[in-house]
Amino acid sequence: AVLASSSSSSAARPSGAHPCFGSAGAGTARAGRLHLPVSPSCNIACEFCARDFNRRDHRPGVSRRLLTPSEALAVTERALRICPDIGVAGIAGPGDPLATDHALETFALIHAAFPHLTNCLSTNGLRLPERLESLIEVGVQTITVTVNAVDPDIQARISPRIVWRGRRVEGRTAAEILIASQMEGIRRAADRGIALKVNAVLIPGLNDAHMGTIAEAVASAGASLFNIIPLIPQHALAGTLPPSAAQIAKARFQAGAFIRVFSHCQRCRADAAGIPGISDIADRLYGRRFEAE
Ligand code: SF4
Ligand code: SF4
Repeated sequence: AVLASSSSSSAARPSGAHPCFGSAGAGTARAGRLHLPVSPSCNIACEFCARDFNRRDHRPGVSRRLLTPSEALAVTERALRICPDIGVAGIAGPGDPLATDHALETFALIHAAFPHLTNCLSTNGLRLPERLESLIEVGVQTITVTVNAVDPDIQARISPRIVWRGRRVEGRTAAEILIASQMEGIRRAADRGIALKVNAVLIPGLNDAHMGTIAEAVASAGASLFNIIPLIPQHALAGTLPPSAAQIAKARFQAGAFIRVFSHCQRCRADAAGIPGISDIADRLYGRRFEAE
C-alpha cells in the first residue's frame, strides 16, 4: 500500500559514498551509514542466529529497540542533524527485511523525505525476486544478500527450515528453494543496475571449504563484492569454534579468484549509526531524549 507508481527505469548507481561498497572499504572514507531496525521477524532459521534487543552486543541481529517506519523517519532526521556525513540509510534486521513490509514502508518514507540518501538493503534473499521492483521504486540502490552455501546439502545444515509461501519447508527442499531465490534475485538485481554485495558467514566444519564455490556462483550471477563474515558462535552453533585468522585468510584468497573481496566489515548491529570505524552516534540517537520525544 505504501508503494508509489511503478517505474521501468533501472536503479541509479550509488554515489560512491557508501562505506561498504566503495573501493576504499569501511572506516577508510568519511562515509556514514544509518541502520534502521524496523524488521522484527525472519522467514528462515539459521543455526547461528540469536536475535536480541540490548545495548551491549556488537553483532548483527541485535538492536536497542524496534522502530516503526514513522519512528525510523524521525530517527533519520535526527541522525542527519547529528552526522551530516551519513549518506546511506540501510535496513539489516534485526530479522529479514523482506519477511515483512516494514522495510519497504520505511524506505518509501525516507526516499520521499531524503531522496539524496542511498537506500541499502541486507537480506537472506528468499523474497528478493518478488520484491525487487518494489525496492527499486523506493530508492534502493545497494543490496547485500547473505549466501552461506550454494550446495543444498551444506545449506540445509546451516538453515534447516524456511517459510515459503505461507508454509514451512525443511531440509534439502528448503535449501534448494532458498539458493534458487538468492541466485535469481542477484541476477535480476544486477541486471537492473543495483550494486550487489554477497555476505557469507564462514562456519568451520560446514562451509569453510566452500567459499570459492560460493564466490564463483554469485560472481557469475552478477554480484560485484564478497564479504566473508567470521562465525560468531551462538544458538545451535554455540559450541562451534570461530574460524582462525588462517582460515579466514584462506577463504578470502579462494573467493578472491572470482570476485572483489571486502575485508573491512565491522559486523554492525541492526541499529548501527555513524561512520564505520570512526564515529558511533547510536547512543545519542536512541538516548533518553529521543525516547521521550
Ligand atoms: Fe537470523 Fe538473518 Fe538467518 Fe534470519 S536470515 S535467521 S535474521 S541470520
Ligand atoms: Fe558495512 Fe559490514 Fe557494517 Fe554492513 S555490517 S554496514 S557491510 S561494516
